[in-house]
Amino acid sequence: MTQLQKAILLLKEIKQHNHQAYIVGGFVRDYLRGIQNPDIDICTSMDPDLLKQYFKVKEEHYGSTILMFHGSYFEVTTFRREIGSKQNRYPEKIIYTDNLEEDLKRRDFRMNAICMNEKREIIDPLGGKDDVKRKQIVCIGDPIKRLEEDALRILRAIRFATTLNFSLDSSLSEAIIQKRDLLKAISYQRKKEELNRIFSSSRAIQGRTLLIEHQLLDVLEIPNLKNAVFYSHPLLIWMQLGVDEIYPFTKEEKKQMKYFRKCMGEPWNLYRIYESDLQTAILIGMMKGKGKEEIKILKNNLPIQNRQDIKITSDELQQFIPVEKISYNYKKIEQAILTGKLKNKKTDIIEWLKKQK
Ligand code: ATP
Ligand code: MG
Repeated sequence: MTQLQKAILLLKEIKQHNHQAYIVGGFVRDYLRGIQNPDIDICTSMDPDLLKQYFKVKEEHYGSTILMFHGSYFEVTTFRREIGSKQNRYPEKIIYTDNLEEDLKRRDFRMNAICMNEKREIIDPLGGKDDVKRKQIVCIGDPIKRLEEDALRILRAIRFATTLNFSLDSSLSEAIIQKRDLLKAISYQRKKEELNRIFSSSRAIQGRTLLIEHQLLDVLEIPNLKNAVFYSHPLLIWMQLGVDEIYPFTKEEKKQMKYFRKCMGEPWNLYRIYESDLQTAILIGMMKGKGKEEIKILKNNLPIQNRQDIKITSDELQQFIPVEKISYNYKKIEQAILTGKLKNKKTDIIEWLKKQK
């Protein structure tokens, strides 16, 4: 059964309990664009307590219920009205309702407020279908107010414009510029998630243009994006922005970014491919204009894969160099072999070492 077939069964099951349920959001928007979105969001008049009674619920958070249905997870959101706003991000209060249109009106953009019922019919009271056709992102209601309620919508708008290749309605575009400072109140984690999606897009460069046009680089604390080289992995863009301590990165990511900065400034060399794991090596290759397959082949065919492959043992080395310099010299030997300056042959290595002194 496909995700869509499962979702439709779920809608039918909720209906049997005398409640309304629809597929909504990105899935329907992308369905109308002829693109399959793997993430299916569902909205319903059934409240979270009832959902828990009838379905296998994994978690529930402010009326958003993640439930397991025929082996897949679905996010099912109870129809609601949202009242007020705190920290320019969250509603002060949510009130459940059984009115679909009320629920659709609290959503961000008209293209994200299109529904599909269990007969795969489109229900579109706010006119989102037309926006999809015209490739336009239009806010539901007054853009200024909607961005004040939740400033993350600024970045969502830019992200959708980038990934979908849609344009921003002029009133939304103006509101973004006017309200851009509100992004300061949004958590770096959420901002990073949206920026990641922009950086990962095949249209990332257009995303940067939009960020610049809307004067968002300073408020996002990423002025260096202006001159960044765009590689097709977000970490390779982040590493050029100098925000390792501002945005949340794991220890491992920070280590990688430091390493990538070092590699970026030096000429291509096989030693980096040798000392890195395959994933890291692929990213280094990306920076140097080499494809994934090419790096895999290069890595598999290196003259040595590790120190044990070097045709001289540490005992043998000790005959020529003091013990405390063994490790240093191993590294020099590795580099010489990998850069093609030295053959991996005992006599050659010994000769070469003598010349180094
Ligand atoms: P995609 O899944 O492709 O990223 P999406 O539109 O489905 O896009 P989600 O983040 O999955 O985005 O959210 C599902 C739906 O919930 C949206 O389509 C929109 O209707 C609503 N929504 C999500 N975030 C917001 C928000 N910050 N403000 C208002 N509505 C929102
Ligand atoms: Mg979605």
